[in-house]
Amino acid sequence: MKQIIIITLIAAGAFACAAREKPEMKSQEKPRAVAKTEAEWRKTLTPQQYKVLCEEGTEPAFTGKYWDNKESGVYRCAACGAPLFSSDEKYESGTGWPSFWAPIEKGAVGEKTDRKLFMVRTEVHCDKCGGHLGHVFNDGPKPTGLRYCINSAALDFEKGETDKP
Ligand SMILES: [Zn+2]
Repeated sequence: MKQIIIITLIAAGAFACAAREKPEMKSQEKPRAVAKTEAEWRKTLTPQQYKVLCEEGTEPAFTGKYWDNKESGVYRCAACGAPLFSSDEKYESGTGWPSFWAPIEKGAVGEKTDRKLFMVRTEVHCDKCGGHLGHVFNDGPKPTGLRYCINSAALDFEKGETDKP
């Protein structure tokens, strides 16, 4: 019995990236523009990227590539390449994670309620592939008052223009 419970937990935790393959596990998930199987994602992502994007992991604060990045450019989804955030909306939150007060455009990221760790938080994911990015909180700066707290591992920074896609 114990084994069954453990297997069920592992299966339930396997992940947004394979949402199309296992739609019964993520009833909230919609079909994605980019849908790959777990094995396909494992091939293209590093273990850390996989842990964040596909298993909703969180990198330790002040360890990621981009929390202190001040260069101009676009932050893309590390899984599918979709533009998600721009340096125009990046700010220093002091948290040790890249923080933005808005996504690059409306609809670039999706949200769902996250009740893990005995907290109610709003999870943020790439709208195109469903990859987990981080969370959004209500303690950000003006004009939105939002703080998108994003894992560096979920992002690929492209230096250059910050124009909206
Ligand atoms: Zn994506």
